[in-house]
Amino acid sequence: MELLFLGTGAGTPSRLRNVSSVALTLTDEGGSVWLFDCGEGTQHRILRTAISPGKIEKIFITHLHGDHIFGLPGLLTSRSMLGTNGALMLYGPTGIKAYVEIALATSASYLTYPLEIVEFEPGVIHQDDRFCVTALPLNHVVPSFGYRIEESDRPGSLDAARLKAAGIRPGPLFQRLKAAERVQLDDGRIIDGRDFLGPSIKGRKVAIFGDTAPAENASLLANGVDLMVHEATLEASMAERANGRGHSTTRQAAQAAKDAGAKRLIVTHLSPRYGKEDEERLLEECRTVFPNTEMAADLTSFTV
Ligand SMILES: [Zn+2]
Ligand SMILES: [Zn+2]
Repeated sequence: MELLFLGTGAGTPSRLRNVSSVALTLTDEGGSVWLFDCGEGTQHRILRTAISPGKIEKIFITHLHGDHIFGLPGLLTSRSMLGTNGALMLYGPTGIKAYVEIALATSASYLTYPLEIVEFEPGVIHQDDRFCVTALPLNHVVPSFGYRIEESDRPGSLDAARLKAAGIRPGPLFQRLKAAERVQLDDGRIIDGRDFLGPSIKGRKVAIFGDTAPAENASLLANGVDLMVHEATLEASMAERANGRGHSTTRQAAQAAKDAGAKRLIVTHLSPRYGKEDEERLLEECRTVFPNTEMAADLTSFTV
């Protein structure tokens, strides 16, 4: 999986940072892209990456503030003008459906692809044989959600050398053994695939949060994740101001990662008041609490 930050600023775009959006590319799934939030100008940022809008299969919106959704109508219609016909699922809090439908209708836009809009209830909002996505409310001035993305564990690899030593020749049988089946050989022996499989490969877990002050559900959503994305709108000394507006400080973001037992933290959604010269100080504030912290910048990517 590859996490690519398209916009990492809070509220309004600045020369340094565009407003919120992050793309998760599922490299093992043919490069499907899941987008989290879509602030204004997101499609311009996408033009500077290898992402093709047709590859975006799902968009998850954390909350309905403009810096997280004003890029949606443009991206949705461009995806259509490019001739894409692959379906798109859009998940978000109540209100996302009316917002998108009114924007498309009043601009006489039409889409060449099926768009399904899901206004979800908290809990598991998507499940297939590869992924489970859970959304729970955080602590902001409007309903704002955090997402937990869990990949299923994969079976371990087949020990071909040991099979060969047992006199079993490579062939269609291997596929069945890899699927942990019991098979009977021509000589009558019964072989259990599970005896020849290495340890299963743990699925990856990622948490991507919307805007939030310290929130009760944070530890639940980010419990033991490989990577957590959390906002850090203001510096540590401005906790009162940050929390009063439903935001977190650097330290509070780091504390959330520590409390949840996350392995790695990436902070984003930085106030436009901060320039390049402030970044080291802000990052240091996080690292005093949670050393394995990095700061997102527009168009930087992280491998999970
Ligand atoms: Zn925001
Ligand atoms: Zn917000």
